[in-house]
Amino acid sequence: KAPVLAIDGPSGSGKGTIARAVAAELGWHLLDSGALYRLTALHACRQDVPLDDEHALADLAAGLPVAFLQDEQGEPHIQLAEEDVTWQIRTEQVGDAASRVAAIPVVREALLQRQRDFRQSPGLVADGRDMGTVVFPDAQVKIFMTASAEERARRRYNQLKEQGVGVTLASLSEEIAERDRRDAERSAAPLRPSRDALELDTTGVPVDEVIGRVLAQVRA
Ligand code: C5P
Repeated sequence: KAPVLAIDGPSGSGKGTIARAVAAELGWHLLDSGALYRLTALHACRQDVPLDDEHALADLAAGLPVAFLQDEQGEPHIQLAEEDVTWQIRTEQVGDAASRVAAIPVVREALLQRQRDFRQSPGLVADGRDMGTVVFPDAQVKIFMTASAEERARRRYNQLKEQGVGVTLASLSEEIAERDRRDAERSAAPLRPSRDALELDTTGVPVDEVIGRVLAQVRA
C-alpha cells in the first residue's frame, strides 16, 4: 500500500496550504477531503435537495459527478457536472452547508471509498478532519495542525480578501467558531486528534518552517 501523510485540524489551521506544498515537494497525490463535502453541499443546492434529507444527500455524495484536474500552470481545478466550481465551493456559505452535510453519518459513509481511492503510488497527502482517525487509520505519518482562533480567522479573512469577497473579520470569526463547534461536537467522526498524531501549533510560525517540519516527519 502507498504511504499516507494524514493532516487534520480545524479550518484555517494552515492544513490546506501545507498539504499542497508538501505533496508538490514529495511528488505525492493530494486529497482535499473538505472539497468532497463542499461539492456534496453545492450539488445539493443545485439539485434542490434539502440539507436535512439524509438519504438523498448520501445518494448525491455517492454519485458526485466530479473531476479533479490541473491547468497548464499546474493549478488544481475542480469540476462538478463539467462546470468549473473551483472558486464557488470556497465561499463561507458553501463551507457552512458542507459542515452540516458532513455531520450526517450516511454521507460520510458514502464518501469513504472515494477518499481511499486517492491512495496511490508513490504516496498521498490527505487533508481533512478525520484522515488519521477514520479514513486512513494506518497512515504512516499523522499531523494534527492547530492555530489560535484569532490567527485562523485572520488567515481566512486574508484569503477571502484576495478573492475579492467582502466580509468583516468579526462576522468571519463568529462563523468559524460556529463551524468548529459543529465539527467538534457532531457524533459522526468529530474533529479530534488521532492518538498517534503529532500536534503542530502553527500560530506565528512562517509557512516555510511548517513545511520543513512536516517534511522532516515524513522523511524521518
Ligand atoms: O476543510 P474545509 O473547510 O474545506 O471543510 C469543509 C467542511 O467539511 C468542514 O467544516 C467539515 O465539517 C467537513 N469535513 C469533514 N471531514 C473532512 C473534511 C471536511 O467533516 N475530512
